[in-house]
Amino acid sequence: MKLNKIEHIGIAVKDLDAAIRYYQRVLGLECYNIEEVRDQKVRTAFFLVGETKIELLESLEDDGPIGKFIEKKGEGVHHIAFAVDSVADSLKEAEEKGIQLIDKSPRKGAENMNIAFLHPKSTFGVLTEFCEEGE
Ligand code: ZN
Repeated sequence: MKLNKIEHIGIAVKDLDAAIRYYQRVLGLECYNIEEVRDQKVRTAFFLVGETKIELLESLEDDGPIGKFIEKKGEGVHHIAFAVDSVADSLKEAEEKGIQLIDKSPRKGAENMNIAFLHPKSTFGVLTEFCEEGE
């Protein structure tokens, strides 16, 4: 397994527009992309800090994964995403080492990335994402 960098940190928020204002006005970052990922029932906003992105996630529906997360745990850090050369290979390796997977194979995420998640039960409570640039 080789992780190339922390690609992004995903943060669950209730009000995307209010959160964007905070990141821009207080932290001085620039939101360079807002995107809906229908599949995940989320609207996302991206900021770049050095080589790492901040991905804000607002639920489009209460029963989506982010809606459920906020209901259980409140707003805050939702996941950490590592850039890898191959999501499929990294998933396979993690599974071979006994890690429980959420995704058995890569799927499309925001920003045309191929992504997959490891289950937080196997990763000391941190929802862990692998991602690679899509074609
Ligand atoms: Zn992510």
